[in-house]
Amino acid sequence: MHYKAPIQEMQFLLDNVFQASELWQSLPALAEMVDMDTAVAILDEGAKITNELVAPLNRDGDEEGVRLVDGKVITPKGYQAAYQTFAESGWVGLSGEPEYGGMGMPKMLGVLFDEMCYGASNAFALYSSLTAGAALCIASHGADELKERYLPMLYSGQWAGAMDMTEPQAGSDLRHIRTKAVPQEDGSYRVTGTKIFITGGDHDLTENVIHLVLAKLPDAPGGSRGLSLFLVPKIQVNDDGSLGEANGVECGSVEHKMGIKASATCVINFNDAKGYLVGKVNRGLAAMFTMMNYERLSIGIQGLGCAEAGYQMARDYALERKQGQGSGQGLGNGSDPIIVHGDVRRMLLQIASMTEAGRALAVLTGESLDKLKHEESSEAADLVGLLVPLAKAFFTDTGLESTVAAQQVFGGHGYIRETGVEQLVRDVRIAQIYEGTNGIQALDLLGRKVLPKEGAMLKTLMQKVKQELEVVSPEWQQQVAQVNQAFDRLLEVAGEFRSRDCLGDAINAAAVDYLHATGYAVYGYLWLKMVAAAERDQQQLEPAFVQRKQALARFFFSRLFPRFDAHLASVRAPESCVMDLPHDQF
Ligand SMILES: Cc1cc2nc3c(=O)[nH]c(=O)nc-3n(C[C@H](O)[C@H](O)[C@H](O)COP(=O)(O)OP(=O)(O)OC[C@H]3O[C@@H](n4cnc5c(N)ncnc54)[C@H](O)[C@@H]3O)c2cc1C
Repeated sequence: MHYKAPIQEMQFLLDNVFQASELWQSLPALAEMVDMDTAVAILDEGAKITNELVAPLNRDGDEEGVRLVDGKVITPKGYQAAYQTFAESGWVGLSGEPEYGGMGMPKMLGVLFDEMCYGASNAFALYSSLTAGAALCIASHGADELKERYLPMLYSGQWAGAMDMTEPQAGSDLRHIRTKAVPQEDGSYRVTGTKIFITGGDHDLTENVIHLVLAKLPDAPGGSRGLSLFLVPKIQVNDDGSLGEANGVECGSVEHKMGIKASATCVINFNDAKGYLVGKVNRGLAAMFTMMNYERLSIGIQGLGCAEAGYQMARDYALERKQGQGSGQGLGNGSDPIIVHGDVRRMLLQIASMTEAGRALAVLTGESLDKLKHEESSEAADLVGLLVPLAKAFFTDTGLESTVAAQQVFGGHGYIRETGVEQLVRDVRIAQIYEGTNGIQALDLLGRKVLPKEGAMLKTLMQKVKQELEVVSPEWQQQVAQVNQAFDRLLEVAGEFRSRDCLGDAINAAAVDYLHATGYAVYGYLWLKMVAAAERDQQQLEPAFVQRKQALARFFFSRLFPRFDAHLASVRAPESCVMDLPHDQF
């Protein structure tokens, strides 16, 4: 597999589209840490390590997969050494707290590095992603002793993190969790239970794995209010920070999966394991949500990274593979490269225009997370609330569509393992499912974020969109009007929901279409923001770069934005067309 991080695109977003250095300078916690030169240097180094160290492991890792041997999880050849180099270079702690050894870099930059990692290898990227997420949760909710003991080891990559929520009877519905935590006299807890599907639950890349486990106290109230969060190390940590005895944390088995075969997906048994409360008793889900907001964005970015990798492979193949003759752009001497054919161009343009808008949404979401962390503004809280479920589900649904389109460009060769593109299709598929299925993300977006408070969160986003689109040049006014109208209609439809008979069913049946409609509206806004920046800064950018942006924006509005109408029509359809058929007629 060949993958090259799209550095120029990334720099364009940070510098020209989002003018990130202005924000960084205005935030005291970031002003000293990062400017555009530092950010560009980090992107360059990130590209080097992902292109040269991570991407070459991807194919062999898929062939070899992980194995459970005598109770130990063995990762594929080359993983250990590569992970060590990756960790020693500080990448796991890129956005970590400087007080505990993290680099303190903004999430706006972190999302771009995440994309490089997933573009290079999904399975490899997951180990560091889960570790960074666990560290974030401990930094946000852990007691000082936990932060001092665990954060430096997680940021340095010497220890890894895992997120332990799912049980056989508790998937989307975590109220059914049975894992128990019993308080001990010394203030610790004894944790017992079985978790399934735990990514990076055990492996040989690090000397310890730190589990963040959702469990119930003996007297916990029923429902999700009864869940508490515990830090449970695989190996106990002595008072001086050295490793002690094994802690009753065992890997029962590793799953055999459709994709991400080099990522260890484990059944983890906790047998009276010693654990420490993170956050407040019975408030575990709220604490876990800190981790989940970042993990959900990160998993969304898995969709983007795969789409970009697929685009690169398909573009290169389309420039080389000769079949059929084109008219106009055809070379006229026998067969032409398939890039001359309208249908092949359509597929490539579709992947590129969705991926570039998606990358812009990742940066916007990262910017909102940074503002929420450092400014605690209500605008940022509204944007994070809306954009995280949108990014997770829309990036991954359209990421699968993009990788399938890339595979289609290869014809039959795309179905054969050698070309590598089929691995992307298999690897990206899980991202629609884990971290909360995309159906659950859509319910979160419509039911919890858009509908409450008369659509207040959506109004915050709309205000920002309308204000920013005021500066777009006259040439794009028709598209500006389309985007503004799309947002007006999203708000209007949200209003209509309140008058519907069975609100719960109506939301449940329409949420995914509502999320997709929102995705196309947001991508419309971001395409206009990108062309406006490219045209404004055209002296500084190469003419071909500006021309490409304009062409992709035109393609998006002509060929993809019309999908908005179809999704909104589905949202407006009565829920009876989904709910009326009796169960036994299915
Ligand atoms: C490879 C892999 C890695 C994973 N990694 C982790 C990990 O690190 N940590 C962890 O804790 N878990 C992990 N998971 C678990 C994952 O998050 C769950 O599988 C996922 O959240 C869905 O739960 P479930 O499989 O029980 O499906 P279910 O909850 O049974 O859902 C089945 C279907 O019903 C739908 N559905 C369920 N409830 C509703 C509802 N109320 N309204 C509408 N539709 C609904 C779902 O959208 C889905 O389509 C992983 C899973 C896999 C396969």
